[in-house]
Amino acid sequence: MNRSFDLQKIIRPNIKKLVPYHSAREDFGEGLLLDANENSLGTPFPDDQQLHRYPDPKQTKLRDLIAEWRGVRTQNVFTGVGSDEGIDLLYRIFCGPGQDRVLTTPPTYGMYNVSANIHDISVDQVLLDEEGFQLPVDQILETVKPNTKMLFLCSPNNPTGNTFATEDIRTLIKEFQGIVILDEAYIDFSNRESWAPKVVDYPNLVVLQTLSKSFGLAGIRLGITYAQEEIIDYMMKVKAPYNINKLTAEKAIKGLQNWETVQFRVDAIKKERKQLKDKLEQLKMVQHVYESEANFLLTKFTDAQMVYKQLADQDIIIRYRGNQPHCKNCLRITVGTPDENERLISALKKLGS
Ligand SMILES: *Cc1c(COP(=O)(O)O)cnc(C)c1O
Repeated sequence: MNRSFDLQKIIRPNIKKLVPYHSAREDFGEGLLLDANENSLGTPFPDDQQLHRYPDPKQTKLRDLIAEWRGVRTQNVFTGVGSDEGIDLLYRIFCGPGQDRVLTTPPTYGMYNVSANIHDISVDQVLLDEEGFQLPVDQILETVKPNTKMLFLCSPNNPTGNTFATEDIRTLIKEFQGIVILDEAYIDFSNRESWAPKVVDYPNLVVLQTLSKSFGLAGIRLGITYAQEEIIDYMMKVKAPYNINKLTAEKAIKGLQNWETVQFRVDAIKKERKQLKDKLEQLKMVQHVYESEANFLLTKFTDAQMVYKQLADQDIIIRYRGNQPHCKNCLRITVGTPDENERLISALKKLGS
């Protein structure tokens, strides 16, 4: 338990007194619905799925299912338009533009910094250890300033693929007086337990997950935030009233109902990850393939620029990460199907050298 964490102290004053948008329907529910200026004649096509009606602003059915699936309570679950919306809302709730700061630990996901720039928030960066990409806990805590509101941790980390030591994550949650945002976008590909159920024990812990990776539903844009109830309440107040559309909610529910298929696919990708790693390691142009608990492999080449360009010439697109700290000559390769990985490997072999 973080003894001196005080949520009220770190919420922006304008958010604390915000009166959220309210629809008349929330008070009455079903009936003759002439309150929202929807089109009474329906959609322009026959199979309308009630799309002429606004969606549920609270996403109750979807959030109930997520809660049940992860072993948490619905009050601790927020659903947004990708993880991006969760990140954006947390900035808006906790960080005063031009005043507050956040801390990130590169090499990591770029969106935390982009969002900071959008909100005019300064970013302090503490690099992960070069050996093993772990968290330099003492250095992070020393870098925290009185106006550092949020600390972003990504585990498994993108682009490095490793998870952080549990004890380090715990220490940071306990010692940091602001919000620790733990991004678990790749948690289902790892052997670690999710921290999501722990949000009831740690009032400053916020966990991000997404249906974009393990569920294979990047196209529907559904991200999940877990946090103590009061933080979720603020997120519900600040979000756009109808942020999750009906089509997305419906597909997300179907996805959760097919969790066994998802797990089966995740297992297949983990096996393929191992195979791909073995094959990459046999190539002379490959210096190192980092251990990964995600669905990609950070791979160090002798000349990453050259490999990147020549693969692109053959319409094989991977991600150049050589500009990231500690990632010189590194490319990030998403684990594909066995066929796709075979194509990649044979293309690399043809590059020779
Ligand atoms: C892919 C990814 C996400 C997912 O973002 P969405 O907006 O949910 O698609 C989040 N965090 C990290 C670190 C990622 O790599």
